[in-house]
Amino acid sequence: LNEPKVINVFSISHLICVCFLCEAELQQRSPPSLISLAGGAPNPSTFPFLSANIQLKNGQTVGFDETLMKRALQYSASNGIPELLTWMKNLQKNLHNPPTATYSPEKGQMEMCVTTGSQEGLCKVFEMLVNPGDNVLLDAPTYSGTLAALQPLGCNLINVSSDQHGMIPSALKEVLSRWAPSEVHEPGSSAPKVLYTIPNGGNPTGASMTAQRKKEIYELARQYDMLIIEDDPYYFLQFDKPWAPTFLSMDVDGRVIRTDSFSKILSSGLRIGFVTGPKPLVDRVVLHIQASTMHTSSFTQVIPKLNTHGSCHLKIVVFSCVCVDVAEWHAPSAGMFLWIKLKGIADTQQLIMEKALEKEVLLVPGGVFMINSSEPCAYVRAAFSLSTPEQMDEAFRRLSSLIKDAV
Ligand code: PMP
Repeated sequence: LNEPKVINVFSISHLICVCFLCEAELQQRSPPSLISLAGGAPNPSTFPFLSANIQLKNGQTVGFDETLMKRALQYSASNGIPELLTWMKNLQKNLHNPPTATYSPEKGQMEMCVTTGSQEGLCKVFEMLVNPGDNVLLDAPTYSGTLAALQPLGCNLINVSSDQHGMIPSALKEVLSRWAPSEVHEPGSSAPKVLYTIPNGGNPTGASMTAQRKKEIYELARQYDMLIIEDDPYYFLQFDKPWAPTFLSMDVDGRVIRTDSFSKILSSGLRIGFVTGPKPLVDRVVLHIQASTMHTSSFTQVIPKLNTHGSCHLKIVVFSCVCVDVAEWHAPSAGMFLWIKLKGIADTQQLIMEKALEKEVLLVPGGVFMINSSEPCAYVRAAFSLSTPEQMDEAFRRLSSLIKDAV
């Protein structure tokens, strides 16, 4: 925690990056009488777009006037457009009320930044924290995008068993018993520093963690001085209230880094995500953004503002499955996914890749969500976000016939 690994290039080029990339931000803060010859940003009068009207589904039309359009097309601050960031900080505080967070620049320990989807946030957080050879804890099956981001870092992924309620605290305790809590700060200790988990509507499992489990896992993280990466893009897709408290809401000592996403509630194509966590770590994520993408699209970041007139609705359809005799699953309480065990099928890879298309049904073979994707896996992932209940029923009839033909 005290010495986060930061990719070396950031420390070397930090000052240069800050000077070069924050010109747009400086210009915005300058008095109108100031004549700046410092800016390396293009003149917005050369951009071909003047204004735009966007029609909302609720019948309203909201506009990008010339001023907003100029901002939307120009470079902006690497941590995010201030209005969006402030709005999101308030929301985060209202939703999670993190005990360490005051969000004031003087006292605040928690910080936030906007990222290009939560995927960018996750990738940058992993790159910041994980060294080759490090042990990283996660519950597999897990999001294939997380595996794809972690595997090239040369770390050692350790699976903590999970069930329909997510990561099992006793399994975590068992894994951690390889190390004594007292040895975690010894130089060269192999004790894990990072634990990754998806607390709601897990991808691919659909599993959601109970408050009690989170408390126990947080306690273990304290004992072993680990950071928890709480990847929660399905938080707003919890079907029933009250929503379980988040790791962030329990974070008394600044060890939770949370990633949020607008992908599932506003638009996935806009690519808006957020990283929330201890300020020293979020500041380093922002440096990484400066050095790579510079910032999330300004245009994209002004769009949510337009939507303050309407609300986002996500219609979740809970459907009846028609293949209970040949498959097993747990009904999810959040998210978009069903994790289905196909009875009598040791490995779903071949069945799905070779035979499912013939039956005109497509699912994702479970192996892609495993740490070792070549091990046999009896599961498939079905997403229920895009299909109607009728289409789901028909897809499951086809899946059922596929399984019956195969066993
Ligand atoms: N985390 C999880 C668990 C996901 O399922 C996804 C998207 N499928 C992401 C992160 C990335 O989402 P985005 O970059 O669109 O916010």
